[in-house]
Amino acid sequence: MTDSEPKEGLAPLVLVVEDEVSMVRLLKAALGSQGFRVVEASSGQEALRQAATRSPDLVVLDLGLPDLDGLEVTRRLREWSAVPIIVVSARGQEGDKIKALDAGADDYVTKPFAVGELLARMRVALRHAARTAQEPGDTEMTVGGLRVDRLRRQVFVDEAEVRLTPIEYRLLSALAQYPGRVLTHEHLLRQVWGPGYTQQRHYLRVYMAQLRHKLEPDPSRPRYLLTEPGVGYRLRDS
Ligand code: CA
Repeated sequence: MTDSEPKEGLAPLVLVVEDEVSMVRLLKAALGSQGFRVVEASSGQEALRQAATRSPDLVVLDLGLPDLDGLEVTRRLREWSAVPIIVVSARGQEGDKIKALDAGADDYVTKPFAVGELLARMRVALRHAARTAQEPGDTEMTVGGLRVDRLRRQVFVDEAEVRLTPIEYRLLSALAQYPGRVLTHEHLLRQVWGPGYTQQRHYLRVYMAQLRHKLEPDPSRPRYLLTEPGVGYRLRDS
């Protein structure tokens, strides 16, 4: 989804997930001095909440957390987000670190680590994420008269720009990421609203109706945004 795209004109936002106060202080100072914006979480649950609401560009994730361990946080994040994740492991957590990488973490550093090493790995992960987001064909999607430019966050119907609310855009963008594929209610709710909202199907009904009203020539007989009864929705791909 678009969470991994750096927000234009703003320094990258880094979510630091760490329960040790002294480590948080160190990371905040180091990242701040390099021009990163920092948001922090001291538990796994808080990390998931912050990831959903703040859409960070990168996550630095300690594996040893008081509630959910970092491995579980990685698994849950990867269910709905492609944000780069760098895990921080202590000695004795090698097994968890490998599992975290298997679960979709991008890289790791081992405590104690030099801040310069972490910064170097962060830059690599951010560059990779930016490249992935800019691959042509991945960022622009056209179906009939509907065009979604995911790089510029613009939507056009027959070359006229349509203004969408942020939620409407995120919903359309989630569908446009996989044109033609059926996306379940739960997947879409997770992707657009976050992991705590997977049962709120009425959100989807309301916002899908709004999107159809703005995008479909005849909202009662959708051409682009198709309903898969009992399963979810799909964006027509041709
Ligand atoms: Ca810890």
